Amino acid sequence: MRYKYCPKCEDVRARNLAMGKRCESCLGDTIAIDVPRSIYGKAMYIVSGIAIAMIILYIAHRDYDAGFASFLGGVDEGIYIALLFGLIILAFGLAFIDTGRTNAAARKIIDERKGRVQE
Ligand SMILES: [Zn+2]
Repeated sequence: MRYKYCPKCEDVRARNLAMGKRCESCLGDTIAIDVPRSIYGKAMYIVSGIAIAMIILYIAHRDYDAGFASFLGGVDEGIYIALLFGLIILAFGLAFIDTGRTNAAARKIIDERKGRVQE
């Protein structure tokens, strides 16, 4: 994930398209910092991918009677939908944890660069 750090006001946050490289607090220039995603972020992508695949299979079976999704005919629809919602909630939870981890990692990278952390 890409973060931006403002040397003027010490603001650290994830970069977004709207604000680009500008600091959101003081509109000054920021320094870009790349923070690797945590294991929770990777898990979030996998869980989201499974949920999307399940939605596609569900629509293919219900609306288009697609052969590759015909196995869903033997699956309880209520359980399938519940499982799908469970995965979506899990993905949100993982994204939340990942954001906390990457925010902390971005802050640590800045502290290290400034020599605040002695190891
Ligand atoms: Zn600033």
